[in-house]
Amino acid sequence: MSELSIVIPVYNNEHSLEALVEGITKALRGRLLYELILVNDGSSDGSWQEIEKIIAAYPTDADPLIAYDLSQNYGQENAKMAGLIHASGDYVVFMDADCQHDPVHIIALLEQCRNGADVCYANFSNSPANPFKRLGSSLYNHLAYKLLRKPKGIYLSSYTIMTKSMQKKVERYTSPLINIDALVLQHTQNVTQIFVEQRQSLNKKTNYTPLKLAALFFKLLPGFSIIPLRIILLFGLTFCSAAFILIIIKSAIHFSDPSAHFFIGSGKLMILGIGGIILTALGIIGEYIGKIYVMLSGNQAFEIQTEISSDDKK
Ligand code: UDP
Ligand code: MG
Repeated sequence: MSELSIVIPVYNNEHSLEALVEGITKALRGRLLYELILVNDGSSDGSWQEIEKIIAAYPTDADPLIAYDLSQNYGQENAKMAGLIHASGDYVVFMDADCQHDPVHIIALLEQCRNGADVCYANFSNSPANPFKRLGSSLYNHLAYKLLRKPKGIYLSSYTIMTKSMQKKVERYTSPLINIDALVLQHTQNVTQIFVEQRQSLNKKTNYTPLKLAALFFKLLPGFSIIPLRIILLFGLTFCSAAFILIIIKSAIHFSDPSAHFFIGSGKLMILGIGGIILTALGIIGEYIGKIYVMLSGNQAFEIQTEISSDDKK
């Protein structure tokens, strides 16, 4: 039985995997019993072949190394969920595969949970060099604060730990639209953080293209919150009330002086404004209907096609 499961989603990380596994072994071997779970998220490079090579050379008496190969690229959150449901340790750590997260901090994360936290995030004292990445990350955290009841000051990073009881709550969720931070915050506010340095990625470039980031936001917004709908409703109500008040004023002016002019073209402006609101509302409602469709369509959150383990060699 492992004290800790380390779940790592892998997407096009062939160059960092060896250093990743070595780093974890160096940081943890002999200090605690752990299992390392790599989830290959449909990488298009040689990541899976690299994982097979690492497992073939992996010592059989070491802490187990298990790998799952997903049938296609489902996204980081889905890959994490695929690992989470197979994690057997008392605590589960998530970290990235590109060696940006130094495994020596795992002990400090574990300490936080042992002291009573349900979840602990490793907050980075140095921000990402890429300004686009910085913006995306602060927008994500701001949204999470506003929409997901994230405690203020906590930074949601992908280097994190959760307790077994949290794992049980999160893995009950079976929809393909997954965001583990959002699921965590639906269940607990008992979240802490530690501050660590983020290292250079061994990947040449981030896997997060603008398109992937946009997909992440749209998963977070309609997938977990109805606030955008309420904002639209508020806008709609404000515009309708404004139109109603204007009509009353216009009628009153017309009554007292039938030859007087109200603002010229106001009717056209109102039609434009209300038309715009209706279109936006339709767009957002469509987004929700689309998500409901995906949830009801029975699509899987992920599909594992192969599983290999260092224990198979025993
Ligand atoms: N990742 C994944 N599927 C994807 C994109 C990313 O499993 O479709 C994994 C990736 O292998 C890494 C983590 O998510 O372990 C974070 O990705 P990356 O380092 O590219 O993101 P960044 O550090 O730029 O946020
Ligand atoms: Mg990275």
